[in-house]
Amino acid sequence: MTAVRVVIMGPPAAGKRRHSRRLVEHFDVEHVESGALLRENRDVSTAHGRPCDYIERGELVPDPVVNELVRSAIADLDGFVLDGYPRTREQAEFLAGLTTLDVVVFLDVSTEVAVERLLGRRVCDRCGSTCHVTFEPPTTPGRCDDCGGALTRRDDDTPEAVRTRVTEFREKTEPVVDSYRRQGVLEAVDAEDEFEAVADRVREIVDGCR
Ligand code: AMP
Repeated sequence: MTAVRVVIMGPPAAGKRRHSRRLVEHFDVEHVESGALLRENRDVSTAHGRPCDYIERGELVPDPVVNELVRSAIADLDGFVLDGYPRTREQAEFLAGLTTLDVVVFLDVSTEVAVERLLGRRVCDRCGSTCHVTFEPPTTPGRCDDCGGALTRRDDDTPEAVRTRVTEFREKTEPVVDSYRRQGVLEAVDAEDEFEAVADRVREIVDGCR
């Protein structure tokens, strides 16, 4: 059976990383996360400045920088779950020139829920697991339930950066979602539902497109 090629889209804190991790385990493909690639290269100087300057403000990093990172990350892969990319029309066009997709899954959450999730989100600095101080508090305050690592707030989970990220999504990424919907490759899922129910639905969608 051929490896799946999936894009996961959604507003900030829709659960893209967590659902992507589930999919890569189940379908045995690589997880390519544009946010993680950019954070790994946060201090690298490019013709457009350093990624960290954009990330900290909650702005999208310029297309040429992200495109190049994703191009080299997927170059030798048969299958992948591409998480957080594309986020602009230019990125979507670039991706179309690189590969074909089996399906685009859109994790749909309202702006209010996204903001609430982002402001309470904590990330483990060792394993990358996330939790929420109110909705999903860790057993030991400040410690990751999965590995015991320290939980910290991401630099861009501040109120100002969160506002910008939500605006960037509405202005630049929603048109990409609409375009995939028109092309008939998009499947939307209500991602405000309980995690396991959403994960089941996402897996069924990807299974159905193979
Ligand atoms: P994420 O981890 O997906 O929430 O992304 C964190 C930050 O990385 C975003 O707010 C952007 O600054 C940057 N970023 C991630 N993916 C992209 C992308 N596809 N295009 C531009 N910037 C991105």
